[in-house]
Amino acid sequence: MTSTRKIALVTGASRGIGFAIAKQLAQDGFDIWLNYRSNHQAAQEAKKIVEEFGTTCTLLPFDVADSKAVQEVLNPLLAKQTPYALINNAGIRKDNLLIFMQDKEWTDVISTILGGFHNVTKTVLAAMIHAKQGRIVNIASSAAHAPVPGQTNYSAAKAGIIGATRSLAAEVAKRNILVNAVSPGFIETEMLEGLPIDKILPLIPLHRLGKPEEVAHLVSFLCSEKASYITGQAFQINGGICV
Ligand code: NDP
Repeated sequence: MTSTRKIALVTGASRGIGFAIAKQLAQDGFDIWLNYRSNHQAAQEAKKIVEEFGTTCTLLPFDVADSKAVQEVLNPLLAKQTPYALINNAGIRKDNLLIFMQDKEWTDVISTILGGFHNVTKTVLAAMIHAKQGRIVNIASSAAHAPVPGQTNYSAAKAGIIGATRSLAAEVAKRNILVNAVSPGFIETEMLEGLPIDKILPLIPLHRLGKPEEVAHLVSFLCSEKASYITGQAFQINGGICV
């Protein structure tokens, strides 16, 4: 029997911020379409935890950068059901000073973050427009707002996400689809591995890293009825760093 609960598609949700968002939205009553790229074991564990909230969790392994793979997985599902919420969260970083940056380091980051936004959003959007409702939340980054040496690729992609958020919000507002971005600062996930945390902490007024769950609370609000007059905005969640 098909569930009557709203569906949330969360990309990059097998761990880190995406997993916290999937858990929170499940707690809010959404069935979850949980995308990840290749870590099947982490995804299985994530599914088990998400389903403890009494919702269903459908695992959708695909590379968001691969437009053909995105469509092959999503189109058969979209023929039957339409997600109410899409959270474009999948992202990677491959830091290097621009002078030393390999073409692949540039294109991998741009095609995962910006290409992933384009591939997944475009695939889901027609169904959302038809349903005349929806919420899209794009996970950007403080790096879109502040200079970060070594992250020209990542900053360009995340600033692009904010620009795309504003333009798409204006395109689909009359269809009752709200589009916002969330820009986390330093959040405790595997993505921070290798960064000098001791040098970063003094720059954060709250003097600690953020938790994935804290980002998930903001995303949850943006997907709720309470956020019904908010669109085209980028919200920073960074412990007070002024950027
Ligand atoms: P993690 O590295 O902890 O997790 C990344 C997740 O994304 C995994 O589930 C991974 O799946 C998935 N993923 C990576 N590449 C792809 C892809 N091409 N297609 C599908 N899924 C993919 O990252 P975070 O949780 O830290 O980051 C989540 C988002 O938040 C990213 O967009 C990141 O840029 C942003 N962000 C993070 C910050 C932080 O401090 N952590 C700060 C600001 C922004 P798999 O394991 O299968 O590869």
